Parts: sequence; structure tokens; C-alpha cells
Amino acid sequence: MSALRYLSTRGRAPAATLSAAIAAGLAPDGGLYVPEHLPTIDAACFDPAGDLAATAATLLGPFFAGDALADALPAICAEAFNFDAPLRPLARPDAAMLELFHGPTAAFKDYGARFLAACLHRLRGDDAPPLTILVATSGDTGAAVGAAFHDQHDPVQCGLRVAILYPDGRVSPRQAHQLGSFGGNVHALRVAGSFDDCQRMVKAALNDAGLQRRVPMSSANSISLGRLLPQMSYYAHAALGWWRTHDAPLDFIIPTGNLGNALACLWARAMGLPIGEVRLACNANATLPEFFAGHDYRPRDAIATLANAMDVGAPSNFERLRWTFGGDDEALRRALDAQSVDDATIRATLLRHAREYGEVACPHTATALAVLARESERDDRTWAIAATAHPAKFESVLEPLLGEPLTMPPSLAAMLARPACAEPLAAEETALRNWLLAT
Ligand SMILES: *Cc1c(COP(=O)(O)O)cnc(C)c1O
Repeated sequence: MSALRYLSTRGRAPAATLSAAIAAGLAPDGGLYVPEHLPTIDAACFDPAGDLAATAATLLGPFFAGDALADALPAICAEAFNFDAPLRPLARPDAAMLELFHGPTAAFKDYGARFLAACLHRLRGDDAPPLTILVATSGDTGAAVGAAFHDQHDPVQCGLRVAILYPDGRVSPRQAHQLGSFGGNVHALRVAGSFDDCQRMVKAALNDAGLQRRVPMSSANSISLGRLLPQMSYYAHAALGWWRTHDAPLDFIIPTGNLGNALACLWARAMGLPIGEVRLACNANATLPEFFAGHDYRPRDAIATLANAMDVGAPSNFERLRWTFGGDDEALRRALDAQSVDDATIRATLLRHAREYGEVACPHTATALAVLARESERDDRTWAIAATAHPAKFESVLEPLLGEPLTMPPSLAAMLARPACAEPLAAEETALRNWLLAT
């Protein structure tokens, strides 16, 4: 098989190998890397007895074929996918939960972050100069990336450091603590601005060629192919399991902010996996719901909501989504739908879910549960809800609402028991530049 080449969505960057695209993060023309075409794969290629890591290695094989990382792919998958993503039936006939929160920081982003870390460590030569991984986070990305690069390898020897930018005061106290709890090679920067400010600052730094020469940098946002590609795996694994037992495709409702998690599901569907309908559940940031309702795409500033990891007004993967449909917005609107769920509905959904099923969902997952409630009135298909985080991360929303304390998973409790600190940073591109040069 000849190796796939990776191109920029903006079409003004040279074709790259997968390794080069993963190492770079963003393409040099400011676009996002995409494969020259999406490979297809037959469901019969997957080992029915294989675990999630085995499914991932088979699924990602065509993307890695011929690349420098190809031989390491099974080991990379074993490292990244060392915790399950169970598809658990909900206590109602028409829905199941795909639980993506059993990793070290209790959110789905652990998968992508661990996969990216496993790739970048292998791509670095012994004498490679120190590399700074920049990450803008609305909450969960930063912790997942911090944990993936902090825990796995000796921080001094590998020459990798991580700088996490997050919007001060707009993440939950527990999330903030998590972000500042790493120390060593992982730096938390609390920015006096929004998530979109953080993202803009990171993009500007990565695109600054002069700065790149002095401080080599890469990104770990969901724009990185090293995070996006692995996220296809849990959708593929769940859909294959469902298809083997029910002889039907599985339909997904996915809480969406930057479109990384949902785009991965669409790519898996485009590869030929037995995935049916896909619905995006957004919070009050309605950029995508308005687009899917037929309006022009109009990115804007984010507003703060209860589902803060989805507070995105300009979803960075939208460029890739458009590319997936050849730039044909009508075809894109036919293939998928997005709905907006406001904070009042998130609260009501969380309360109803607790009352009817005796279980607590995270506020992000609640947006998908709200969309499920609307969808189940229309037809009787079985929807899988992507449960994107463990509820215990969002105690400041959930405990006052539900009036009861939440039990923390042990990995989260251990992280929160460590001391935490974060440095303040102005929401300006020069402030990040100065910080990078000074440290
Ligand atoms: C990041 C995140 C989302 C949104 O995922 P995207 O890939 O940005 O669309 C949803 N829920 C939780 C808990 C998250 O951390």
C-alpha cells in the first residue's frame, strides 16, 4: 500500500507524511491537515474478539501504512487505549451510553491526548531540541494533555514541556485545580479572557516563524491529527459490537464544541463503519445549529454556559468538516444535524435524568440527553449518547443542583490531592510570546 499524503484544508501547504503532520499540528498555511482521501475499510477486517486497542490498530492502519510510525501503531494503540469505553444500556429501551470517561482525567480527551503523546515521543530523535506543546483549553483538553505528557515519561529526559492556556474563572474549580496540579514540565497559564482568546493566542504563536525558530512549538489542540484520528476508534468499536449483535447500524448523539469528537465519528462513518445517524448536541453557543438550520456559517465569540468545555463560538474543526463534504454545504446539511441546548434545559435534563434513572450525568452529556428526549418523540431508533466526561469533574454545577455530594473516581481524587498553581497571563498574543521567550 502506498502511503497516504496529508494536505492542508487551505490548499497552500506542501503535502506531508502522517508523522510530519502529527509533529506540526497546524499546517504552515494556517489550515488543518486532512488525508488526501479518507480510506475505506470493511467491517470484516476487524477481529470480533479484539479489544478497543485492537480495533484502533486495525482502523488506523490505512492512515499509518508506509509512515515512519507504522510499525509502532499497535504499541501506540495499546498505550493510548488502555482503558475501556463501555457501551452501557440506559434504563430505557431506546438509548445507550458510550462511556468515554474512564481515563486518568475522566474525560474522552484522554484517548486523543495519550495517543498524541505516544506518537510524539516516538517521533523525537535522541538529540532533538526541546519542544513546547501549546494547548488552549476550555477545561478538559489541558488536563488530558498534561496527564498524557507528564505521567508517561521522565519529564527531564524527553525534552518536552507543555504550556496549558485556559480562560481564568471559566473552568470549574476542580478543573482549574487539575490543570495546575502537574508541575514539572507542565505549566498552567490562566488567561484573562475567553477560550477563543486562548485558541487565538496559541494559533498566533504556532504561526510565528521567528518565534518557532527560537522556541520550537507544536500544538495539542483538537486540530492535531494525532488527537482526531484515534477518536474514531471508540465509535468504530461500539458500532461494530452493536452491528454484530443487532445487525443494525448504531446512531450517535454527540456533545459538541470544537467538533473534534463528532468529526471523528463522521470520519469513521465515511470509512464504512456501521454508523447511522449522527446528531450534534451543542450548548447555547449556536454557531453550528444555525448553520445546520440553513444560515451562513458565522463564527463568533463564545458565551459561558454550564457545559463549559463546549463554550466555543468558532469551532476549529469546521474547516475539516466542510472538506469532508467537498465544500458542498448542502450535502453537509443533509448528512448531519445540530441542536442547541440552553442552560435551563441542561439543568432540567440533569434533574430529570437523576429522578428517572437514579444517575448523574455531566453537564456536557446532558446536552446529548436533551437532544435524545427530543429525538425519541419522533422515532424509535436506539441512540448511543457519547458520555464525554465523568460528572464528578463538575461538582460546582451538579452538587448545588442535585443537593448531594458526587463520588470521585480514584484517579481524579489523586490528582486533586496534589497542590496546584497557575500563572496569570493577559489575553494578548505578545503576552504568550514573552512568556515563551522568558521561560
Ligand atoms: C471537549 C469536550 C467536549 C467537546 O468536544 P469537541 O471535540 O470539542 O467537540 C464535550 N464534552 C466534554 C466533557 C469535553 O471535555
